[in-house]
Amino acid sequence: MFPSVTARFDLLIRIALVAPALATASSCGTPAPAEVPQAAPRPSLASHRGAGHAPTDAARGEARAAGETRAVASEARPVETVASLAFHSDALMNLHHALYAAAWAQRPVIGRSRMLAGRLASPLEAPLTAEERATWTAAVDYYETHLAARDLLFGDGMVAVKTALVAGNLASGDVVPELRAVLIGALPIYKRHFWPAHDRVNRDWIAATVAGVRYVAPAVTPALEKLYGASWFTTPVRVDVVWVGNWAGGYTSDGPPPHVTISSTHKGNLGWSAVEIVFHEVSHVLILPIQMKIERALGERRRAHRDLWHAVQFYVTGAVVQNALKARGVDYVPYMYTNGLFDRAWARYRGAIETNWRPYVAGAIALDQAIGGTVKMLESPQAP
Ligand SMILES: [Zn+2]
Repeated sequence: MFPSVTARFDLLIRIALVAPALATASSCGTPAPAEVPQAAPRPSLASHRGAGHAPTDAARGEARAAGETRAVASEARPVETVASLAFHSDALMNLHHALYAAAWAQRPVIGRSRMLAGRLASPLEAPLTAEERATWTAAVDYYETHLAARDLLFGDGMVAVKTALVAGNLASGDVVPELRAVLIGALPIYKRHFWPAHDRVNRDWIAATVAGVRYVAPAVTPALEKLYGASWFTTPVRVDVVWVGNWAGGYTSDGPPPHVTISSTHKGNLGWSAVEIVFHEVSHVLILPIQMKIERALGERRRAHRDLWHAVQFYVTGAVVQNALKARGVDYVPYMYTNGLFDRAWARYRGAIETNWRPYVAGAIALDQAIGGTVKMLESPQAP
């Protein structure tokens, strides 16, 4: 079913602002996370889930679907778990996003019209047999016709589909029979021709990013807890790493349970920025109480400033990661600056946020002061 808590869009601005600049986004010149000391990967103790629970009273078709579900059940064991974040590289989730992006990739580009999918890092080309090609093409066409127009997070039923796939539960009522058949037909083709390379890219990304997360987590997680006034996760949050994802490169549904999807090839998700983006994504869950306070403080103007909390979240989490790295001798510039979020989308918030949230992050003023000061500055038409 659809998560009871509002799903939340991530990196709302990243693209609105549009792709050309993102295409040239570069690393900030700091050491890549892979360069920091790495602890040895450890095996996960997570239990297998999702598979093997055929409905007892199912009709034949449903029973067959459950059986097929067993055959395609997603990989339930994380590749790595660090700081209560469980990173997965899952074939079914990757297939779903690859078909979605492949549908978008075959659409004509009209002006600067916005894609809902991430760009394919390389074309999905392989020596398919005629039969495989027919099945694969039909799968992409199905996504084009039925799913591509729906945003992966906000689109009707899309989080429910994703949630079923995360559980490896193709028998779920949230996966309509046609989609179920498409995925079951396309999965072996995907696994044969594309998945080995995609999985390798995902696992390389996970290894590098987890090393960075592990390096700064002892400083970052308590700081985020303090600044957002929320406890860190006791149950690991699943982070699905996909070769291609949504237009923003990442999105998070609040759940419960919260769930993060991040692209391993999005140009904004590299090096230390990838580490920040991981913390940014889970900050979507942590910021909920502050988001409500900001919206209350805005009152009638909450609709006019519906992204303010998100800009605050980018600033706070980015500053926390920056401070943690600075203490370790790494000069890091947060994502929102390297990707021009203040310059291109949130210019009207820059002065108010830097004036009020810098001292908040430094512990010099209280939360209510930061929120009040921000809202007050936005009242002035001269506000920067
Ligand atoms: Zn976000």
